Amino acid sequence: MADYSIWVVEYARVNEFARGLLLYGQWNTGTTIAPYCYAVLKSDDHLAVIDSGYNHVEFGKVLADSYGVSDWQPPEVVLGHLGFSPDDVDTLVLTHNHFDHAGGVEFFPNARVYVSKIDLEWAAALEPGTEATPELHIADMLKNQRVETIAAGDEVLPGIVAFDASGHTPGHLGYRAKGTRGEVIFTGDSVKNRAELASRTVDMTYDMARSQVAIDRIRAFAQADPENLIVPGHDTLLAYEGAELVGRAQREVFIRAWMSTDFNDVTIFDLTQPPRSK
Ligand SMILES: [Zn+2]
Repeated sequence: MADYSIWVVEYARVNEFARGLLLYGQWNTGTTIAPYCYAVLKSDDHLAVIDSGYNHVEFGKVLADSYGVSDWQPPEVVLGHLGFSPDDVDTLVLTHNHFDHAGGVEFFPNARVYVSKIDLEWAAALEPGTEATPELHIADMLKNQRVETIAAGDEVLPGIVAFDASGHTPGHLGYRAKGTRGEVIFTGDSVKNRAELASRTVDMTYDMARSQVAIDRIRAFAQADPENLIVPGHDTLLAYEGAELVGRAQREVFIRAWMSTDFNDVTIFDLTQPPRSK
């Protein structure tokens, strides 16, 4: 069993996301922010990333614009906040082949890439332009020597095991990282947000019945221990306290500012802290 430090980092967002799609029963209540994230896992032996984000150019930008995605930042900047470089990442693990999860493989040149065999074969067989998959990346992944195809049950890193979370896409995988205190459950888009988890009804799925099997599986994993943490595709971290679904993340927002003539002199403002009283 390896110990991991885990961060879930936002690399882009949809600023005007319908609240009704995120919060159960909140129809016609305006919009909220939906994050686009990936997870960074660090152990003594590995630096891993779960899902790659996408590159905000060409077809990636076209798809992102169609979903109203803004504030995109490259992995160099996002990982830089944690003191890492994308070059340091040795393992990239993908949940599925939609552009915002698998369209950034090129950013991690030294990583071994693990992707669901069923999902990659599905994505490769699609007509170009019919789906939110990055075609050129899929073609590249089929040839890429760094890519290894996997299936549910496979252990991609010590203590990190894939599970079947299909429905959203035909070969979608989730991952469980079992710790000494609870486990972290990475759902990808099999559960995009708390509304889907609470209602068992998902937006954008290939197969609603299979999506519901995946949701029930994720609920059972999570409810086994209140310490267990769910990392959904596009929402804050979640957990179950008994039957009750609760949010577990504190949102951190920073501004980096240059306030002197020296560009190395950066002041960081934590926007989640209340202003200090004078
Ligand atoms: Zn997706």
